[in-house]
Amino acid sequence: MSDKPAKHTFYCPPNSFVAGMETGEPERVVFPREEAHHALHVLRVGVGDEVLITDGEGGLFRVEMEVMAKKQAVGRVLERLSPGTDPKVQLRVALGLIKQAARYETFLEKAVELGVSGIVPLESARTERSRLRMDRCQNILVAALKQSGRSWLPALEAAESFASIIKDLEPGEVGLVAHEAGSVANHLRAECEMLREAVGNAADGNAADGTTVDPLRITLLVGPEGGFTDQEVEQARVAGWRPIWLGPRRLRAETAAMAAAGFIIMSLE
Ligand code: SAH
Repeated sequence: MSDKPAKHTFYCPPNSFVAGMETGEPERVVFPREEAHHALHVLRVGVGDEVLITDGEGGLFRVEMEVMAKKQAVGRVLERLSPGTDPKVQLRVALGLIKQAARYETFLEKAVELGVSGIVPLESARTERSRLRMDRCQNILVAALKQSGRSWLPALEAAESFASIIKDLEPGEVGLVAHEAGSVANHLRAECEMLREAVGNAADGNAADGTTVDPLRITLLVGPEGGFTDQEVEQARVAGWRPIWLGPRRLRAETAAMAAAGFIIMSLE
């Protein structure tokens, strides 16, 4: 790491880039309106300044600003940086909808920082009425993406019912259900130790035949304020999901989601 101050980071989706005729590689980037405004009027970035751009789809670039005028911000791509700060493990978190949208929004911000790859608003038996404003949520995700230096923008998926999500476990995907009743659930620490071993073995096996290891894919379900019913947890278990426990304290839904996501990513990264 250099001792220069961190460069400002902007989000410019792939369609903001213009490819060079000969190379086909991104050569110039035209900032979207909001980002141009932010660069010009809030951060006062000037011509010749270097910034970082994340395209939200795996691209992270070092860019020198060429045009900063009126509502326009255009930069020249100096270098593609790889990789971003995204973890290898792909963790989707389906958190039950909770009454206070602000708490859900806090979760979204922290989930991006912690490295989750997707978020699903979950509707289950004890879900209470609530509404997420998707435009606000998207802005929160983008701000956290830039802040955390990631190159992949996590997807905020459409709301899904418990019954439907438990049917969707794909081959090779690990399904975890956070449940505060410890008797049916394995402690998350033990679960992650097992997963670590499985990933380690797969990596060793693959190194020999030269193929690459697919990233580990996990979906974690966390209940709403009222929790999951025992019946729901049982249905999930029958469908191949593994109940996990986060210890003797009863956490708020969004706290449980953040703590579990952080622990999973940090132990499997
Ligand atoms: N049913 C409880 C509280 C639910 S807490 C009640 O009202 O009495 C909301 C969600 O957070 C739960 O559904 C679970 O997914 C998760 N959670 C909270 N504390 C947990 C713990 N100690 N272990 C595992 N999951 C927990």
